[in-house]
Amino acid sequence: MTNKTIFQKIIDGEIPADLLHDDEECVAIRDVNPQAPTHLLVIPKKLIPRTSEASEEDQSLLGHLLLVAKKVASEEGLNEGFRIVINNGSAGGESVPHLHVHVLGGRQMGWPPG
Ligand code: AMP
Repeated sequence: MTNKTIFQKIIDGEIPADLLHDDEECVAIRDVNPQAPTHLLVIPKKLIPRTSEASEEDQSLLGHLLLVAKKVASEEGLNEGFRIVINNGSAGGESVPHLHVHVLGGRQMGWPPG
């Protein structure tokens, strides 16, 4: 496959990454271009391009991603709070077409988001 996403290459072990979590369904890594003091990504091993392309059969997996997000947030000491973001499509700011949950923390978040 030549058109693997960067996340698929990480999942397949072709690109090294700092794995904070690894189970049958997903991995969690540090974002290479952090937008907050702590910026993590929770990435399903199943290639779902984006939330709008998820299906009913993904219900359990989608819930699992949030549970892993809160676990890694806790492990990183984000006890004051954190922001979870999923960008969807070009207008949503998505740049990698492989669903991923951003976990941002370590600073005060603003609202509305940019
Ligand atoms: P999005 O814009 O929501 O699609 O998010 C993609 C994220 O992936 C961005 O925050 C990038 O900084 C991050 N990213 C891209 N390549 C890598 C990589 N090799 N390792 C970790 N994070 C990455």
